[in-house]
Amino acid sequence: MLNDIEIAQAAEVWPIEKIAEKIGLTKEEWAPYGWDKAKLSLGSEHDSDTLGKLILVTSINPTPAGEGKSTVTVGLGDALSKIDPKTMIALREPSLGPVMGMKGGATGGGYSQVVPMADINLHFTGDFHALTSAHNTLAALIDNSIYQGNPLNIDPRRVLWKRALDVNDRALRHTTIGLGSPTSGVPREDGFDIIVASELMAILTLSNDLMDMKQRIEKIVIADTYEREPVTVGDLGVAGALTTLLKDAIHPNLVQTLAHTPTLIHGGPFANIAQGTNSIQATKTALRLANYTVTEAGFGADLGGEKFLDFKVPLLGKAPDTIVIVATVRALKMHGGLAKTELTQTNLAALENGLANLGQHLQSMQRYGVPVVVAINQFTNDAPEELSAIQAYTAKFDVPAYVSDVWGQGGAGATDLAQGVIEATERPAAFKALYAPEDAALEKLNKIAQTIYGAENVELSDKAQRQLKRFAKYGWDKLPIIMAKTQYSLSDDAKKLGAPKNFTIHVREFVPKLGAGFLVAMTGSILTMPGLPKHPAADEITIDKDGTISGLF
Ligand code: ADP
Repeated sequence: MLNDIEIAQAAEVWPIEKIAEKIGLTKEEWAPYGWDKAKLSLGSEHDSDTLGKLILVTSINPTPAGEGKSTVTVGLGDALSKIDPKTMIALREPSLGPVMGMKGGATGGGYSQVVPMADINLHFTGDFHALTSAHNTLAALIDNSIYQGNPLNIDPRRVLWKRALDVNDRALRHTTIGLGSPTSGVPREDGFDIIVASELMAILTLSNDLMDMKQRIEKIVIADTYEREPVTVGDLGVAGALTTLLKDAIHPNLVQTLAHTPTLIHGGPFANIAQGTNSIQATKTALRLANYTVTEAGFGADLGGEKFLDFKVPLLGKAPDTIVIVATVRALKMHGGLAKTELTQTNLAALENGLANLGQHLQSMQRYGVPVVVAINQFTNDAPEELSAIQAYTAKFDVPAYVSDVWGQGGAGATDLAQGVIEATERPAAFKALYAPEDAALEKLNKIAQTIYGAENVELSDKAQRQLKRFAKYGWDKLPIIMAKTQYSLSDDAKKLGAPKNFTIHVREFVPKLGAGFLVAMTGSILTMPGLPKHPAADEITIDKDGTISGLF
């Protein structure tokens, strides 16, 4: 079989106006960006449109064996599209740092991909570059204010706004700036985050429109004063300039799958340090235009799924009509204790052992009152008895599990899954939120940890406790919680696979994100600037004299 990029390069890509036509966009509602991409802007006159059905794709805890969540999202979208052409997909944009680092993009795989694959994985429509410019402009403006007499009384030791890049560069995690001469600025410690960890990325994906974006940017806390009072972008007076830099990035990007299903790709916050889903604008746009919208939340149901349901749903004003949990025989066997090198062997005992991980996610998602189905993403080595063992297990939860070969067959490999999803969306559902906005931070944390992760309790470090007391002064302790936790385990220890029991979640500190409107609870050792692996994907990626790219997955 061809690899992902070869399949994508061989695809017949429709001109983007044909895709815009397919979903009934008028001329004013979109602008071409090259011939195979477009920027969309649907105004508030569409606010009263009826919304289609929303299908949220999430998964078990990821393992290095791979789950193929994006691949299933795309394949399911293509399968639904065959049944109802008014189907759309809403995805996140890949970050260049991981594209050059790890093997595996974010545009699906095999015959379930979004195209133009190389563009989407590289610079796409420049949204991430615009975000990086806006982010670093703010950093420069803060240092300039300190240098120019420091009218806001910023304590240079307490500047919270770091610099950002879309590069996995561990050498920049901790830096010193302002060295040289007195005219080179005020020396202080600084550091870099990857751009997807920027609060501006979260804001881009949460803003309803430009003015909402400007107001959110104004609220970003950038530093403390010497008296330990918060300083915001509003105090610095530069929200207008930063919003100006993001005027195009705010518009969702339209592309297509290999089967020409209209797909919106917009924003890309990670699900372990931010909310992990594409933009509210893209999801809403798809819901207005399509009868079925398939969207994906990053990492497992404990991270992206929980954040979608507890944080995005209230802002979107719409809960999913069905939740799809992606599982694979391989990943479940890893959760059951098998090494990555042994995954091609049939091993029912390891599979049975690992099913507890799926079980925890089934229970936690069912508690939201939305119908749940399981998509088994089939790999070539899966044995029929392994596939039926998963189906027998989910039946105990009254959840259907459909074997899908979207990687090998595209939408045709997910016909049963699509039918099952449509049936599920027609079942009566009543969305039940996990916590109330007014719950105290510790109560919210306990509800997430106990109900979603299966933890005993949550422990706050001394620092986290002191922070909550201080935050109460500003009302920040009542913000929705975004858990920063490892994606590999239900616990905060990446090595505890399966469904660990009797564990405690340790919150070491909180990071308030006032513009995004959430409080990040940092557990374990989550990095906001990843490093590159020993053999980065960049070793393989190249381009020939005709501009043909290879090695990009
Ligand atoms: P996730 O969204 O869970 O990170 P992706 O859908 O991006 O995973 O898939 C990661 C990689 O795994 C892709 O390169 C894709 O081609 C590959 N992949 C996904 N599903 C399958 C499958 N069923 N068989 C073989 N490879 C697969």
